[in-house]
Amino acid sequence: MAKVLESFLDENLNSLRVQGLYNEIDVVEGANGPTIQINGKDLINLSSNNYLGLATNNLLKQAAKNAIDKYGVGAGAVRTINGTLDLHIALEEKLAEFKGTEAAISYQSGFNCNMAAISAVMDKDDAILSDQLNHASIIDGCRLSKAKIIAYNHSDMDDLREKAKAAKESGLYKKMMVITDGVFSMDGDIAKLPEIVQIAKQFDLITYVDNAHGSGVTGTGKGTVKQFGLEKEIDFQIGTLSKAVGVVGGYVAGKKKLIDWLKVRSRPFLFSTAVTPGDVAAITKAIEIMERSSELVDQLWENGRYLKEGLKKLGFNIGASETPITPCIIGDEKLTQLFSNRLIQEGVYAKGIVFPTVPKGTGRIRNMPTAAHTREMLDKAVGIYKKVGEELGVI
Ligand code: PMP
Repeated sequence: MAKVLESFLDENLNSLRVQGLYNEIDVVEGANGPTIQINGKDLINLSSNNYLGLATNNLLKQAAKNAIDKYGVGAGAVRTINGTLDLHIALEEKLAEFKGTEAAISYQSGFNCNMAAISAVMDKDDAILSDQLNHASIIDGCRLSKAKIIAYNHSDMDDLREKAKAAKESGLYKKMMVITDGVFSMDGDIAKLPEIVQIAKQFDLITYVDNAHGSGVTGTGKGTVKQFGLEKEIDFQIGTLSKAVGVVGGYVAGKKKLIDWLKVRSRPFLFSTAVTPGDVAAITKAIEIMERSSELVDQLWENGRYLKEGLKKLGFNIGASETPITPCIIGDEKLTQLFSNRLIQEGVYAKGIVFPTVPKGTGRIRNMPTAAHTREMLDKAVGIYKKVGEELGVI
């Protein structure tokens, strides 16, 4: 190893370990469902984004197996070189129909979807107005585009309006975009899309909504854009296929000419092999299930309400989430980590989230109830919260 690399790694890894910021990743020994097995112990899993429980659904598993038998396990090469599987086309048609748009394009992950889509349209002559709490993949996608990034205060529509006005009046930018998460994953709040659309109309902004945590959850499962009836107003509807859909991948849904452009100009589409046939078949099955009935979505919301109520009654600060995401705000970073460790020891797998992922002093346990949790599991989790909360003096 080059000496310069060795000293860089030693110095920085050490520094993280000393500060207690080196994240040791837990090894999961089985399926990622409402419970998971870690160190031979079954824990109630409140840490996954598997909102509808589809990651372990038998119909999805069977669809993947059938596709593997017919197509094999890999897509072979990038789609523009080796041809595109009919499975990918069928999925994209289904996604467009599901999202109420003319067309859709799929990517290998939600993360690289943002890297792909933003930089395919925006460049150094442009400006992007970005919510201060947008996901890392949006931030990186904006950086990659080389556009001027103008962060606005979280969901602060006055700040967005002022900054959009100033940017427009400066005459410095050819195109301007406003970009936001649909649902913010740390607090569970929903973006103010109707106001964002109104500001976008006023200042001629391209609109971009990443619905990673909204798809399969809000708008009877069709996402936050659908919830507000704004399918015709939002230029880019981004979604991930790894959370509620339960598999892996990401997509953009929008007008046909936008999708045509992304197919010829977005680099992860042009230079990286597509999602595997088994995954695509499982994803397509998941969308079919979501289209057919809102039963899982209803169950998810019911479980979210039940967990929130249980924790609130005990006296925990659960913030102001508008979705099933249930933060339990502890505050102090060390106490948050200790709280999470104790929950895990007692049988609830819920991780502490601290600075820099959330602002200093707002350390929290982020609970993600899913449609697959039973009442017994949630009751048991709340009981463990009570025990740990009293023990650590949080309630
Ligand atoms: N966008 C947002 C808003 C997200 O929360 C996430 C996942 N944390 C992603 C994109 C990335 O999605 P994926 O895991 O599919 O790469």
